[in-house]
Amino acid sequence: MTSIKKISSDLTIIGTGMAGMAAACFAARHRIDTIQIGVNSGLIYSSGYLDLMGIHPMGTRLSWNNPWQAIDQLTTDNPDHPYARLRKTEIKTAMHQFLDFMNTTEHPYVFSENKNTEVLTPVGTVKQTYAVPRSMWAGAVALKERQPCLVVDFVGLKAFSAKQIADMLMPRWPRIRPLRLNFPSAGASVDLYPEQMARSLETEENRIRLANAIKPHIGEAKALGLPAILGLYTPSAVRQHLEALLGVKIFEIPTIAPSVPGMRFKETMEKALFAQNIHLIPQKRVLSAEIQQNDHFLLGVGEHGSTSVDQIIETRGVILAGGRFLGMGLRAGRKKIREPLFGLPVFQPEDRALWHEDDFFAARGHRINQAGLEIDDAFRPVDADGKPVYKNLVAAGSILAHQDWMRQKCGAGLAIATAYGAVAAIRKTL
Ligand SMILES: Cc1cc2nc3c(=O)[nH]c(=O)nc-3n(C[C@H](O)[C@H](O)[C@H](O)COP(=O)(O)OP(=O)(O)OC[C@H]3O[C@@H](n4cnc5c(N)ncnc54)[C@H](O)[C@@H]3O)c2cc1C
Repeated sequence: MTSIKKISSDLTIIGTGMAGMAAACFAARHRIDTIQIGVNSGLIYSSGYLDLMGIHPMGTRLSWNNPWQAIDQLTTDNPDHPYARLRKTEIKTAMHQFLDFMNTTEHPYVFSENKNTEVLTPVGTVKQTYAVPRSMWAGAVALKERQPCLVVDFVGLKAFSAKQIADMLMPRWPRIRPLRLNFPSAGASVDLYPEQMARSLETEENRIRLANAIKPHIGEAKALGLPAILGLYTPSAVRQHLEALLGVKIFEIPTIAPSVPGMRFKETMEKALFAQNIHLIPQKRVLSAEIQQNDHFLLGVGEHGSTSVDQIIETRGVILAGGRFLGMGLRAGRKKIREPLFGLPVFQPEDRALWHEDDFFAARGHRINQAGLEIDDAFRPVDADGKPVYKNLVAAGSILAHQDWMRQKCGAGLAIATAYGAVAAIRKTL
């Protein structure tokens, strides 16, 4: 018979997505004794851009240059939105503290205090975001100044076309031009994968070969755009070396998933949080939860996909950052959406027939994407009477109701700000 290990903590964060990582970062700042647990999340698919607030109202697709004005308007129009649980100064502090933390790592960000920045997407459209990975910043500058620019793609790298990007941008950026090359260290590979390419550019010799292949084509270009493959662990050093070899500013353009910036972000956070004494239990899930008479939770932990518990966590407080359907923080059944771990009430359309609009691309979004946990001002999930279900359970991130982060372009900001609010609230109960 195998014995079940028991460990304890003041706080347990369920989730290793953007919200769980941000919560761990804020908990570490307050030196809270914390365990974090989760399997792969949306992070490894994300572009690396940190959106704060871009579109409001959803139906109009109105894009805002100033995210703080957008948040003012949003919270006036929709007082149930999770941003409305926080003062604007708290959202600003959350973003500053999080970005300060990131700027001590190998994955630094650049942002303008009160302004969104226009950035490139993998298909050559332009979107607004708040904070831009340092590795992509020169692209935002080149786009703004319409600098002469070369964009390169590689034979065998799927779903990233320099020609498509240049064609899309040409009307507003006439001096952009595309180039396709063989990736020098690809060998006989037919298909190329961003992660492999990024690993290969960690080697100096491969960077020199790549620079030699690009150099004859630089011409008048002042900026060079490459798919996001500039190293997995030391992106700044990889980019700076290539810039020195080629004598132009270099920027990454996100690829579609799985994304190297997303992987970097995850690795960077895990390493930095480990150094701050956050006890991460990776690639496992909380399978069961019960509350004891002393108000401590007992969480049963096991392998992802298993039902057998191999570890118990006794914890005084929980931050639930389990995401929606992708992270499996919510489950959609035949008739209802439920929160599977604590059985918390889920705000949702009354009937399954109302989950989706007839038009898949409906600008105002699908009602299912506003489903989630309703919370009070202390970020505690509430019951039908608006009363907190547990005094020491708070929630953060995309599991929260009354927001559609994808359409509102507020994914990371919502995760970071609500994680900040959740940590501040749970601290008072520990
Ligand atoms: C393809 C894609 C692209 C994106 N691009 C951007 C972008 O450009 N800009 C931007 O700002 N945002 C972007 N985002 C959104 C952002 O990265 C976050 O995914 C989003 O903000 C939600 O984060 P979350 O932490 O709430 O949930 P998730 O990312 O879904 O994470 C939930 C976590 O909870 C864990 N979990 C759930 N249940 C349990 C359990 N019982 N036990 C243990 N762990 C559990 C999951 O394993 C997972 O780790 C993108 C997301 C995706 C998917």
